[in-house]
Amino acid sequence: MLALGIESTAHTWGIGIIKDKKILANIKDTYTTEKGGIVPMEAAKHHENVYKEVIEKALTQAKIKLKDLDLISYSCGPGLAPCLRVGLKVAKELAKDYNKPLVPCNHCISHLEIGKLVTDCKDPVLLYVSGANTQVIAFEGDKYRIFGETLDQGVGNFLDAFARHTGLGFPGGPKLYELSLKSKNLIELPYVVKGMDVSVSGLLTNLKQKYDAGKYKIEDLAYSCQETVFAMLLEVAERAMAHCQKKELLLGGGVACNKRLQEMAKTMCEERNAECFIPPNDLLVDNGAMICWQGVLEQKNAVNSEKADIKPYERTDDVVVNW
Ligand code: AMP
Ligand code: MG
Repeated sequence: MLALGIESTAHTWGIGIIKDKKILANIKDTYTTEKGGIVPMEAAKHHENVYKEVIEKALTQAKIKLKDLDLISYSCGPGLAPCLRVGLKVAKELAKDYNKPLVPCNHCISHLEIGKLVTDCKDPVLLYVSGANTQVIAFEGDKYRIFGETLDQGVGNFLDAFARHTGLGFPGGPKLYELSLKSKNLIELPYVVKGMDVSVSGLLTNLKQKYDAGKYKIEDLAYSCQETVFAMLLEVAERAMAHCQKKELLLGGGVACNKRLQEMAKTMCEERNAECFIPPNDLLVDNGAMICWQGVLEQKNAVNSEKADIKPYERTDDVVVNW
């Protein structure tokens, strides 16, 4: 089975090519800004501009031709509609021109399944922390269900918003991490866990106020911000593991590249005699390989390319797991 997958839910245009279980190529080009966050139409324009080149690079690296493919998949949602539409358009064109089956895939579930492919985990709780999404997902009762999530912003967007406020630029998560290494001074911040969910908007306002007051060092705020929000995430993830009686934690999403989050996740797992699985960074961030692998798993869910569509608001538990 030789498959190609297209990721385009937000800032990243990604193409993955997988033969059987081997990733032959995973190439991406990401929209970035100097000021402000993602402007959906601008990100979509970026994808329009780069898609051909990224596909060419991926084909060259994998040493294959489009006609050799057995299947094409694309991320149908959740995500920004203008960006999803570019992925859909390209996927449909390729499927039609080369007469290939076309499989729409859920982005969040793809993060989990690629983690299962490249690590040894079997039945994990996924802590998925990206720009827009923050969810604790596990398979229970025939579905991938969300056991906890953010009630407002994704944690990546939260980190980026705070970083932007302090003039650090986008994406801010890695910049806050670098600053956090210079501090061990924990400033008390609002810690908001509501049942199984987290909320970060009050924490963001509080951090901005503290920064604007000029009484705190940015590295202390960066350190405290990470300690607080990551503890919130791991509290919920740990409770989901206890509730579902699962012994594996899998990390996913761009924020999971953060070494401090990884360290805290490993400590939590050690303390409850569980295992922590962390895919490599290029598979944690949005990427085409995960959509490609999801397409392989879901090959029987191929659709007529005329009927293929986007689902910008698709929820993880809307998906019927039949693979
Ligand atoms: P994604 O949407 O999954 O591609 O993830 C993008 C988000 O990950 C952005 O909000 C980044 O700020 C964040 N991010 C990437 N690397 C790191 C890091 N080392 N620490 C914290 N956040 C990060
Ligand atoms: Mg993602």
